Amino acid sequence: AKSEGRNRTSFFSDELEQQIIYRHQLELLLRDTLANRQLQVYYQPKLCLKTGKLLGAEALARMQNQQGQWVSPLEFIPLAEETGLIVELGLQVLRQACQECLSWQQLGYQVPVSVNIAAAQFADPQLVQQIKDLLAELQISAQLLELEVTESALMLDVSKTQSMLSQLRASGIRTSIDDFGTGYSSLSYLKKFQVDVLKIDKSFVQEMLTDRGDMEIVKAVISLAQSMNLQLIAEGIENEAQKDMLIKLGCEVGQGYLFSKPLSAANFRTYVCQ
Ligand code: C2E
Ligand code: CA
Ligand code: CA
Ligand code: CA
Repeated sequence: AKSEGRNRTSFFSDELEQQIIYRHQLELLLRDTLANRQLQVYYQPKLCLKTGKLLGAEALARMQNQQGQWVSPLEFIPLAEETGLIVELGLQVLRQACQECLSWQQLGYQVPVSVNIAAAQFADPQLVQQIKDLLAELQISAQLLELEVTESALMLDVSKTQSMLSQLRASGIRTSIDDFGTGYSSLSYLKKFQVDVLKIDKSFVQEMLTDRGDMEIVKAVISLAQSMNLQLIAEGIENEAQKDMLIKLGCEVGQGYLFSKPLSAANFRTYVCQ
């Protein structure tokens, strides 16, 4: 029994050691990817649920390892946040997304692009000026850019958030609250936040037809958006039944695998033109 216990201890410490090595390698990969400008951006269509018309695209960061395998954003985004690399990552995604949006415009299509902004970026008072400079440099209209900020990032520093959101509004840049319903934002703050869009989190969309509680949350978010005159979008729509229910409840914009997975820049151009 004693030797078993010892084996178990060494098994766990081996595993921990492996995790530490893996995390370190991932951090090196991320640093290299950013330094060599090898981060990729994929684009997922946002559509009118009733007509299928393309209304926009969400930019999503993608990274490959040395073997060419994809590393999930669910792994490298949290690591980027912990190491502070998220600020550089976010700026690279923002620049690529705006350049891509410009290329759609040059093909004859006005497709707004949405970029995810992490809490650390949103806390940086220079963000608004950096974005304005980028738009001016590329000569893109502010109306073509939307920023997706999570509820929890907005709640970190409420007065800072208010000033950031009003500066963005004054510049004509649209903002949406991502993963809405998963955080703890109080309704009274929501009223003071000048945002344009509420994005219903995919966890609710995916379970609303099987879980009464999730259905109630979707209904509540929709009626909240309607009463506050905010636009709505649902993410993670995977089947017709979910789409039909959202339309019935009054949510007319969405994205999800039912319509398209996130596409490479080249594939999204083809999608736009078809
Ligand atoms: P998110 O912002 O909530 O993005 C939506 C995620 O849902 C994406 O995962 C997308 O591929 C996935 N998705 C879209 N439709 C469906 C569907 O029908 N079913 C399911 N199961 N999933 C769907 P992805 O690309 O793996 O990104 C995961 C998260 O990583 C994002 O969640 C976001 O929080 C973060 N992320 C990705 N790119 C960036 C970035 O450039 N900056 C920041 N700050 N975060 C990013
Ligand atoms: Ca998002
Ligand atoms: Ca989301
Ligand atoms: Ca549930």
